[in-house]
Amino acid sequence: MSTLQELELAAARPKDAAYGEDAKIVCDNLVRIYKTDGIEVQALQGLDLLVRAGELIAVVGASGSGKSTLLNILSGLDTPTAGVARVGGYDLLTLKGRDRLRYRRETVGFIWQQTARNLLPYLNAADNVALPMGFAGKRRKYARRRAEELLEMLGVGYCAARHPGRMSGGEQQRVSIAVALANDPEVVFADEPTGELDSGTSRQVFEALRTANSELGVSIVVVTHDHGVTEQVQRTVEIRDGRTSTEVLRRGGEAGGPVEQFAVLDRAGRVQLPREYLDELRMRDRVRLTKDSDHVGVWPDLGSPVQTPIQPGE
Ligand code: ADP
Ligand code: MG
Repeated sequence: MSTLQELELAAARPKDAAYGEDAKIVCDNLVRIYKTDGIEVQALQGLDLLVRAGELIAVVGASGSGKSTLLNILSGLDTPTAGVARVGGYDLLTLKGRDRLRYRRETVGFIWQQTARNLLPYLNAADNVALPMGFAGKRRKYARRRAEELLEMLGVGYCAARHPGRMSGGEQQRVSIAVALANDPEVVFADEPTGELDSGTSRQVFEALRTANSELGVSIVVVTHDHGVTEQVQRTVEIRDGRTSTEVLRRGGEAGGPVEQFAVLDRAGRVQLPREYLDELRMRDRVRLTKDSDHVGVWPDLGSPVQTPIQPGE
């Protein structure tokens, strides 16, 4: 290694160690660009996100904002174009071959929106849950017992001997959570798991995710466009145009408690203000900043000459 490389490493180390050092999931300036027929789509444009061990968070955002892209990267199905993505110590930019396979099998669990994609139709619920344990080399007897315990914990113990075709959508999704938990993952990702369900059933599925989180301590990231679910989690992160913008936190942690809104401050000092604030206060192009001893004020730039072009000769 050259002296220059060593210097660069030394310069990079304290910064990297500080950002997300104790986090289970770290995304730092994450970029994903899709190229099809010479057209580039920037699905993620420098996204920052930290999730601590044992957290249950919701990720919301309009259709096309990059939610599925983020989950596909974090679950090891897709590779980012640039930036940092780390889960449980695995670097997802360099993860290859056997390690990637092991990561997907043992470190993470996944639940898709389409109920049919989560379960094999010709196996009953218990066998669906036991299957990934078999792949991981667990004994049949152990797998059988754990499958029944997980189904019981998620309120679908009575479905153990049923095939997916004889379960409701909500039951299938709760069994799918058991499948995702089978190999005791560190993190579970769910991409709109209640997207095909009515609101009552969707609450039951969310309740099951909360149970998994509190009973097993597994970190859970749920993508949803249903803003109602944000009532049921401690932290909601909004993705807008491929970046995380605002966060809603529930004080004291209880669901339904009072909320505080936060904005992500990136390392360059950028903050994205909520669209509704901008519209209401008619802020655009430029804002006036004031600095107090303990806060920064952001004001509309009323009567500013911003839009007036400079005249020649002026
Ligand atoms: P969301 O899940 O929030 O609806 P996605 O992550 O699916 O958003 O998509 C983000 C953006 O990336 C969209 O503009 C989408 O059209 C584009 N995109 C997603 N997947 C691909 C792909 N495989 N090829 C090209 N563009 C894609
Ligand atoms: Mg999506």
